[in-house]
Amino acid sequence: MNKTKIVATIGPASQDKEILKQMILAGLDVIRINMSHADYKFCDDVISKLKELNQELNTNVALMMDLNGPTVVVNRLKGKQLTLKTGDTIEIYGDREVDGKHAFSVSYDGLGKDLKYNSHLVLDDHEIILKVIDKSDDIVTCLVEKGGNLKLGMKVISPDCKLRFPFLTEKDKKDILYAHEHDVDFLALSFVMNSENVLEVNDLLIQMNDNRMSILTKIETEEAVDEIDEIIRVSDGIIIARGDLGISLPVERIPGIQKMIIHKCHNEGKVSLVATEFLASMESSSHPTRAEVSDIANAVLDGVDSVILCGETTIGKYPIEALTMMEKIIETSEEDVPYFELLDNAMRTEEDGITGTLAYSVVTCANRLRCVAIVTPTVTGYTARRISRFRPICPIVALCEDESVIKQLSLYFGVYGVKISEFTSFDKMMKEAMKELKQFMDTKEHDKVIITGGYPFRKVKHTNFMRIEEL
Ligand code: PGA
Ligand code: MN
Repeated sequence: MNKTKIVATIGPASQDKEILKQMILAGLDVIRINMSHADYKFCDDVISKLKELNQELNTNVALMMDLNGPTVVVNRLKGKQLTLKTGDTIEIYGDREVDGKHAFSVSYDGLGKDLKYNSHLVLDDHEIILKVIDKSDDIVTCLVEKGGNLKLGMKVISPDCKLRFPFLTEKDKKDILYAHEHDVDFLALSFVMNSENVLEVNDLLIQMNDNRMSILTKIETEEAVDEIDEIIRVSDGIIIARGDLGISLPVERIPGIQKMIIHKCHNEGKVSLVATEFLASMESSSHPTRAEVSDIANAVLDGVDSVILCGETTIGKYPIEALTMMEKIIETSEEDVPYFELLDNAMRTEEDGITGTLAYSVVTCANRLRCVAIVTPTVTGYTARRISRFRPICPIVALCEDESVIKQLSLYFGVYGVKISEFTSFDKMMKEAMKELKQFMDTKEHDKVIITGGYPFRKVKHTNFMRIEEL
């Protein structure tokens, strides 16, 4: 059973109910809808299929909505596309009609003020690269350093200069409201620049009285990397979004940044996720490259919580095969995770407290006794999350009454939520726990299990017991 979780982005290649079902059966934990491409009709369709499938399959696959974020795009040009040749000059207008032939407009009117002479603009993942050679408040003149076909909707990124537009766009606000009304579990924030951006969304959720959605901040700008500690502090989790990050800064910096962020999240007890191009070759081939296999394995060995499939499952030819392959690579790589090193590291950074200390003891015992599972009845999911931070070798089975808590746990390393009804006594709880465990996984006689939690339920604020059972 995989402990590293899998998120798959849903698109035309995976929107079909049968494909979604096969993906869930192959090990999918969370589905992601990317609001840069999806409209509400698409969302309605995917959300209703997910609800049906969770019922049919008795699963708790959770839902992530990834916001578009404050992006600048090509929004007006003469005709459908414009061919830019290397060495040409081109004019960029700030959000207005285009008259001249060799010009286009973008969705932001402050480029002239924000960009510096000789700074660059990168369009659509390095399809086109422009250099600023002249500018007024209203028009920026660029030299085409790398030519290509310019099209409407292309994303324009400024890797050298900070653009000063507001973080929360009207579209994102509308999408957050939609997410709130449709029981979305995770909100992923794109192009965050600082912790205030995250707090702004947090305030909006408070105003909406939403205590369901948690906030995952995508790291895809250099400013966010520079402010990573503060951002981790105010977020529920972090997504290392390697696609746009590799435009905002040189691609060769990504591996180091990825490792650094996974490590920091682990220390802070926040979930870490890595996205983009894990199995990019499987968009058109049924088999991955060796480098892709190593990339997934390395994320697992570093102790990431979840990995995200993007193009592979949205537009790729082999969405189910990609998911199955990812599951296989994770399963094998997990044999080599340095569990004891991660456990020691988690203990060193743990504050003195009852739950953390007990969680450390539980994982130490579970690893030494080769327990097949750690079972924990939990109301808020807190105990399960704390145990996950210590990276046990066996899975953590969280017994919980609340479906939304179970879904929140679905991104955490090793944690599997199982829905139960309320326990009335300690003995009843122990009996139920063993019964649920046997339904959840294949167990054998003499297998050892640890049961841990806080008792009496709801009355204690921390975990206070641990019991080792032999089946
Ligand atoms: P996107 O984010 O798919 O929304 O662009 C992921 C990334 O940039 O890696
Ligand atoms: Mn992105």
